[in-house]
Amino acid sequence: MTNHVTITFLGGLGQIGRNCAALESNGRIVILDCGQLFPDDLPGVDAVLPDFSWLIERADRIDGCIVTHAHEDHIGGLPYLLRDMDVPIYGSKFTLGMIKGKLKFANITGTEMIEVKDHEHHKVGPFDCEFLPVTHSTPSGLMTVFTTDQGLIVHSSDFKLDPTPVDGRLTDLPRLRELSADPGIRLLLADSTNAGAAGASGSESEIGPVMDQIFADNHGKRIIVAAFSSHIHRVQQIADAAKETGRTLVVMGASMVRNVTLARELGLLRVSDKMIATAEDIDDLDPATTCVVCTGSQGEPRAALALMAQGRHRYLKITDHDTVVFSSHPIPGNEAAVSRLQNDLARRGARLVHSGQLNVHTSGHGKREELAALHQAVDAELFIPVHGEYAHLVSHHELALELGMSPDRVLRCVDGDQVQLSETGLKKVGQVSDQWIMMDERGKALSDELVEERRAVSGQGFVLIRVVVDGKKGVLVEPPFVTSRGWVEPGERDDWSHEVAQEVTAAIVEALEDGERDAHKLGRKARRAAGQLVGQRTGRRPSLVPVVEVR
Ligand SMILES: [Zn+2]
Ligand SMILES: [Zn+2]
Repeated sequence: MTNHVTITFLGGLGQIGRNCAALESNGRIVILDCGQLFPDDLPGVDAVLPDFSWLIERADRIDGCIVTHAHEDHIGGLPYLLRDMDVPIYGSKFTLGMIKGKLKFANITGTEMIEVKDHEHHKVGPFDCEFLPVTHSTPSGLMTVFTTDQGLIVHSSDFKLDPTPVDGRLTDLPRLRELSADPGIRLLLADSTNAGAAGASGSESEIGPVMDQIFADNHGKRIIVAAFSSHIHRVQQIADAAKETGRTLVVMGASMVRNVTLARELGLLRVSDKMIATAEDIDDLDPATTCVVCTGSQGEPRAALALMAQGRHRYLKITDHDTVVFSSHPIPGNEAAVSRLQNDLARRGARLVHSGQLNVHTSGHGKREELAALHQAVDAELFIPVHGEYAHLVSHHELALELGMSPDRVLRCVDGDQVQLSETGLKKVGQVSDQWIMMDERGKALSDELVEERRAVSGQGFVLIRVVVDGKKGVLVEPPFVTSRGWVEPGERDDWSHEVAQEVTAAIVEALEDGERDAHKLGRKARRAAGQLVGQRTGRRPSLVPVVEVR
């Protein structure tokens, strides 16, 4: 009997972010990616992680973690996972470089890093793994082909089919066709992010000429280009346009500085020392021969561009001599923040160039034509759509059916699903936690209750009611103290507090006369009395916080 393979999806199926899966055979486990998710509407939450407890309970059976590429939704969970377990990490040189930076920042040392080159085979746990190059919006992405007792499993990684990538490193479809012909591919797990988008994503190298045009059109102005800091090939094209026009390249934003430094060290980014400068040099540079490349294209509030827009950047003041280029699309959820940022920049006089006007951005994820080409090359017996919001997974499922796959060969999974691949095919065999683990800025886990309380307080405010009772005499020691925040207009606060105090007094006096002395029960009486008044009179539902002391 041959060993079956069990795949456990810990995250990334149902939202973009916190990608993490585990492949298991014969009792041994390999982790595939370990990402985080950036929350857009959870107050005080810095990162959302998969629930790692399933992995931690099995730490002694885990042989390695394969990391496909350097995006946060694939590597951002590692500093948290590695606090609780030690596991060797497999990835490309650039990906490992990014991870090393993160682990150093998190004070995690001693992790074994195994560098993987394109087309290499490595034995990771129970699997022979072959790593193939893919094009994406960060360098050196890797597709993984797992050789298992149940045949080959291909994981696409985040990918597009860029026919003319900036570094000339193509997605290796020919090798997939070869494997598909012999021995054949059993199961495909593929990126669904752009499964709902028609056509093809376009080549990254199409951005260069657009940049050249923007630089020509903005002769005499300072040009500021905001881009993702991990998008090294974009930075390359911005740097090339700057070089062509004799501009100095100023690198701004902590992650941009870090990633540019790493990519230059590894020879992935070619910018000569003499044309590069730092933020401190801005004052000495002629704006007409300066190009700033910076972080903050998604409206991130602490990024370099946001500080410029608010006039709070230490070195750079935006004026009408500036042109700001947004070399990205807003990620869903960030649209409002990006438009606020653009308005603030425009108010300071900056001219704006964004993807709505010119093709200054192309997606790193393949659209339907590219996904179809992958499916045709792999020609897998079985398919599970991965990496996407729920609607993306559905689109990818539908696409597979359109491409002729029979419905019983596609299995749609979500976070927490555990599936088994055996001689008879794929079936769901279990369920693990799909809980969102929320971390604050200092790396501490936050409960759902706390985040819910914060959300309630931020939306409706709170009312604090303090009651002191003489337990022996059965009377109030003093009138209840009531204060609030975020509930009514500050100027009306005292009047409302007075009314609430009167209602609470009546309720507490009545309860005391009935012989009630329990602080908790008196608190409930106070909450109910206050709640009725607050709800009826103001139509709002602030958090009510009674504090009762029985002396
Ligand atoms: Zn990615
Ligand atoms: Zn991703």
